[in-house]
Amino acid sequence: MKHWLLSVLLVVCGTVSAQITLVKDGKSSARIIVQDKMPNSKTSAQFLQRFLTEISGVALPIENDKTPRKGDILIGGQSPAEVTEDGFSISTQDGILKISGKENGVVYGVVTLLEQYLGIDYWGENEYSLTPSKTVNLPFINKVENPGFRYRQTQCYAIHTDSIYKWWNRLEEPNEVFAAGYWVHTFDKLLPSSIYGKEHPEYYSYFKGKRHPGKASQWCLSNPEVFEIVAQRVDSIFKANPDKHIMSVSQNDGNYTNCTCDACKAIDDYEGALSGSIITFLNKLAARFPDKEFSTLAYLYTMNPPKHVKPLPNVNIMLCDIDCDREVTLTENASGKKFVKAMEGWSKITNNIFVWDYGINFDNYLAPFPNFHILQDNIRLFKKNHATMHFSQIAGSRGGDFAELRAYLVSKLMWNPEVNVDSLMQHFLHGYYGEAAPYLY
Ligand SMILES: [Zn+2]
Repeated sequence: MKHWLLSVLLVVCGTVSAQITLVKDGKSSARIIVQDKMPNSKTSAQFLQRFLTEISGVALPIENDKTPRKGDILIGGQSPAEVTEDGFSISTQDGILKISGKENGVVYGVVTLLEQYLGIDYWGENEYSLTPSKTVNLPFINKVENPGFRYRQTQCYAIHTDSIYKWWNRLEEPNEVFAAGYWVHTFDKLLPSSIYGKEHPEYYSYFKGKRHPGKASQWCLSNPEVFEIVAQRVDSIFKANPDKHIMSVSQNDGNYTNCTCDACKAIDDYEGALSGSIITFLNKLAARFPDKEFSTLAYLYTMNPPKHVKPLPNVNIMLCDIDCDREVTLTENASGKKFVKAMEGWSKITNNIFVWDYGINFDNYLAPFPNFHILQDNIRLFKKNHATMHFSQIAGSRGGDFAELRAYLVSKLMWNPEVNVDSLMQHFLHGYYGEAAPYLY
């Protein structure tokens, strides 16, 4: 009975709401018209052309700046004001479909059309499903979608071997967003101890009775010469990368290697946290370059927020929950609670947080990592606490525990933290594993 009702509904909707017939009986007069010169618009048009050809056998021509006629698809151009970074709009008017977006959004709009309206699923590295059809109809579509996080990153191996995978899953790579690949642990790259260490040990951390110039030590953040050298370096990096607006200025890896000279210690003591001197330094940099953005780590010794200084809006705080347990959500285990407390502290003083989360067993990449039941709660928690950028370190190696399913679900959650995870998991298991699905589930 249920099935019968569903088929009736589909038939009715199919007839009544078909607004655009892209291909009829293997023939089409529709065109894909690109409305601007942006590389992402070109990529979008090529994706649309390729997959429509695979479905229908008809390759729609891609043209530039033509006056549209009924049945055409417009790509690019101005998007509505409510579209935010990487968001998109799909609209139907007078029999013409228009897809536009901000930054990567136009590509994600096309991908959404292919996935939600033309039935293509992209499972993993060069693996996707579609149903061929000589006739392709589109219903009336009018929607705006913005991502849950403006930056979304996983480490899925397929990103590097399949040029479509990253786009389809709405993922970004650090070197596409962060200037010159400066995205984490950048102190020694910006002020190399190999260049300045010998002549200027005072640029580096003072602890245990002496200065420690070295790859793993930190800066003496209260030293004005350090600030000027770094500011000049930052300026030249942005000048060499005019298409980028964010870079990371962040501590080297290693715990309690911070500077404890009188001036640095005075700031940190006043702020009640070792992040005090870092945020003070970053704010100075952010004020010097108001149209740029600087990401910095709140990690290990800098995990807790300062008491007085507030990060400027163009300072991004990167939090990493590396030490936390994963059998239960972050709010339900002792190590997680410590992290959550720090995150909530930061979220009181900034709306610009990057969360680096882990869904991987570094001791054994192939070992089961049964954390599917906590993915959504944790991602919702990050979002609630003003995370705007998210890196979920998962699926880096082929053959890892459900690498493809994990990357699929996490990508969907980063786009929309409120998706129905269980139904997506079922959908993936059936589409990817076929008859084995119920057993794997
Ligand atoms: Zn110092």
